Amino acid sequence: MHALNVVWLRNDLRCYDNAALSSAVEDASKSGAAVMALYIATPKTWQLHDMAAIKQDLIRRRVLQLQQEMAALNIPLLAVEGSSYQQVDVVFTALCRQFQLKVFVQTEYELREQQRDAAIEQLVLANMGQFIRFDTQCLMPPGTVRTQQGDYYKVFTPFKRSWLAQLQQQGVRCCARPAMLPASNLQWTQQVMTDLPAMKEADNSSQQWPVAETQVLQLMRNFCRDKVADYQQLRDYPAIDGTSKLSAYLAIGVVSAAQCVARLQLEAADSWLQEKSGAAVWLSELIWREFYKHILVAYPNLIKHQPFQEDTAAIRWRNDTTLFNAWCQGQTGFPIVDAAMRQLNQTGWMHNRLRMISASFLVKDLHIDWRWGERYFMSKLIDGDFAANNGGWQWAASTGTDAAPYFRIFNPVSQSEKFDPKGDFIRYYLPELAALQGKLLHWPHTTGGIKAYCKPVVDHAVARKLTLALFAEVKQKNEH
Ligand SMILES: Cc1cc2nc3c(=O)[nH]c(=O)nc-3n(C[C@H](O)[C@H](O)[C@H](O)COP(=O)(O)OP(=O)(O)OC[C@H]3O[C@@H](n4cnc5c(N)ncnc54)[C@H](O)[C@@H]3O)c2cc1C
Repeated sequence: MHALNVVWLRNDLRCYDNAALSSAVEDASKSGAAVMALYIATPKTWQLHDMAAIKQDLIRRRVLQLQQEMAALNIPLLAVEGSSYQQVDVVFTALCRQFQLKVFVQTEYELREQQRDAAIEQLVLANMGQFIRFDTQCLMPPGTVRTQQGDYYKVFTPFKRSWLAQLQQQGVRCCARPAMLPASNLQWTQQVMTDLPAMKEADNSSQQWPVAETQVLQLMRNFCRDKVADYQQLRDYPAIDGTSKLSAYLAIGVVSAAQCVARLQLEAADSWLQEKSGAAVWLSELIWREFYKHILVAYPNLIKHQPFQEDTAAIRWRNDTTLFNAWCQGQTGFPIVDAAMRQLNQTGWMHNRLRMISASFLVKDLHIDWRWGERYFMSKLIDGDFAANNGGWQWAASTGTDAAPYFRIFNPVSQSEKFDPKGDFIRYYLPELAALQGKLLHWPHTTGGIKAYCKPVVDHAVARKLTLALFAEVKQKNEH
């Protein structure tokens, strides 16, 4: 039986710094095995996970592009379309029938993904193959950053301190892109798959986002070279292009966290350790990304949408569907919230400051269960990532790790005045308010405002009191 090394790609859609790919190639150079890459699209499971159509499109475009990039290395990438994770089994059963397999994968942390991998591992082992995992989604894999007692950190700041100390100790290493292999005989990859169709063309809804690996790496390098110094000053202003916009690429692994940190160290060698420098603050955001993944592994109940702070499960959210729909459609009468939601609906991406404001508004002004918002975000975001989305929502809802204390409630109007001071962002997404100036733009419901704009769906001061009461109710119960 011919030996075959299969690089099963999931959220690591890249050739550079791909440990699974590099190891498969290196192993083959010693064993003489053939190498192929595999991607299995699973639209039914994606639907179950509320994956946004625009994210699905980005993945499809990226996989088809990666097929060409891998062809240049003489590595065939078989991209097929199953329906759910169950069909992954069909592919590996077919491969095991014909080959002696070694499967190389990047670890995934979510529940169904873990179950899927455990089942495929069993299948491969039962056929005398090997299943080899690489824990490379984070620069510091979950479990490697722990307290002195050996526990996972529950709070970000000490986690970050420990993470940085580890970084300084061990440095960052990225794998090179594998060298070109001798030409392979593509026929067998075609024969393997008769049961599943090839991956379909994408619908192009994500076309604003380039998918060539070299282009994405260039975006990352340009940000680290030209923009990161101003990150601290500009990152909170949605009208300014002051953040990296790499989240969609990090989510599907076109670029790795290690590559970002390595490049940051190179371009900002003098400042990345200086607290409050743009580089240090950007690094902090990458560490938040890792923190939430570590937390997800440490507290598997999070994947079942349980709150991190268990007592908050008893909060009696109002869950008014009319208010929820107004929020989803950007029709709440609060300009900054509506502009944010329209940015999300129109582009599939939302600025971080606005994610915080609109999430807080849903939970603490409309009293709607944070899980409704979490789900809606996931169904729209091009960068939808379970750990970051869940972490962000639980932070905003005051139910998570490091959560904003429940009595600290964003005032959407003062947030708007502070972070969109000239109103450029609001004007762009709410053209009906374009003629307004100054304070009126942030609150157009006083004399001189605009009648064509929707009325505010709640009174913030009243809503604030109700939030305090909802939390006080469960906190009191807990104390007794
Ligand atoms: C309610 C809510 C939901 C969110 N949902 C997601 C999500 O589904 N996917 C996602 O990637 N991010 C999510 N975030 C985090 C953050 O808003 C985005 O990562 C960021 O806006 C992406 O823009 P950027 O790439 O320009 O980020 P930059 O500011 O350039 O940051 C660099 C990278 O660090 C990571 N990062 C930044 N901030 C955070 C954070 N607070 N938590 C975790 N990682 C972070 C991202 O990978 C980001 O690309 C959410 C935040 C909130 C408050």
